[in-house]
Amino acid sequence: MISIQSKLPGVGTTIFSVMSKLAEEYKAINLSQGFPDYACDEKLINKVTEAMKSGFNQYAPMPGLTELRELIAEKAEKLYAATYNPDTEVTITAGGTQAIFTALTSCISQGDEVIIFEPAYDCYAPAIKLLGGLVKPYELSPPDYEIDWEMVKKLFTANTKMIILNSPQNPTGCILSEKDIKALIKLTKNTDILILSDEVYEHIVFDDKKHHSVALYPELRERSFIVASFGKLLHTTGWKLGYCLAPENLMKEFRKIHQFNVFSVNTPMQVGITNYLKDPDTYLGLSEFFKQKRDLFRGLLTETRFKLLPCHGSYFQCVGYEHLSSEKDTDMAIRLIKEYGVASIPVSAFYTRNTDHQILRFCFAKKQETLEKAVERLMKL
Ligand code: PMP
Repeated sequence: MISIQSKLPGVGTTIFSVMSKLAEEYKAINLSQGFPDYACDEKLINKVTEAMKSGFNQYAPMPGLTELRELIAEKAEKLYAATYNPDTEVTITAGGTQAIFTALTSCISQGDEVIIFEPAYDCYAPAIKLLGGLVKPYELSPPDYEIDWEMVKKLFTANTKMIILNSPQNPTGCILSEKDIKALIKLTKNTDILILSDEVYEHIVFDDKKHHSVALYPELRERSFIVASFGKLLHTTGWKLGYCLAPENLMKEFRKIHQFNVFSVNTPMQVGITNYLKDPDTYLGLSEFFKQKRDLFRGLLTETRFKLLPCHGSYFQCVGYEHLSSEKDTDMAIRLIKEYGVASIPVSAFYTRNTDHQILRFCFAKKQETLEKAVERLMKL
């Protein structure tokens, strides 16, 4: 047998696959992985089908369909007063994950340090390591997961190349405030530090909160790759389509990688999505749609013994159980599947050091009946 030296020796199967597989095995209700269990809009399916039937079945242009890029640039202008040139500063990708990987590949080299805020979405650290970069985790703590920017400053070295932001954040549902953004502007002023802003949940923000895209702030925009996902926008996570926004000098390097790694992405879906998104109401109602699910789920959870953490955005609700058990969160998550038939994600999986605050993450992008059934089972705990 030929053996190869692993480039990621410490990495196994992701926690999402592990929990989903276990959920399937035990026929548990799966609130672990972040995907809807209801259908997307039929109009969208019809538009994609129409595109296929009309012959849009060959390669799209390398950076994506011109009309779709124009639509995205218009959206950024309208929502964030940010001007992105669709020809040179917008690229359609095979989902947010590919956009993140390509952005990192375009600028992270051996020895470069990247600051990430943990608990962090799990694709950042392996990608950084694969490129020879060093992950500098800043651990945030429940219940509010607030960032002390003086502490962030302490992580800066001569090798700090990038900061990764994720707001609204997966898994915590926390969002960056204007105060955070102002601190970040101050901290990065007169530096060459880049920002990768993962904004895949930009349209899922609740109550009186506002999404502070880095696109809103010229000082940050000029140093940022912004990543978005049509999977979250259109309830179609399985389509794996997204996009990246960045100023021309950064996007030029991004596209050098993109053209050889992916070249271009699914044409009929790009055509269908373009025709669908011409009506902005298709995504502007997303916050209200998920607010109803969040309120329903939180309301139901009050009947259980879990402690609810705040949820200001995204479609994740975290709960604490330290007053109920001293079990590790991974053990608790496995026990919930095996004994109660509900799958969650242990939040320690989002920390480099597997820091365990005894918190579980549930996804509430599910049908009302799914959420009701799941909580009925959780009430037995
Ligand atoms: N970033 C975050 C924070 C996510 O939660 C996800 C999806 N779970 C992604 C990126 C990836 O998006 P996509 O599915 O479009 O690759």
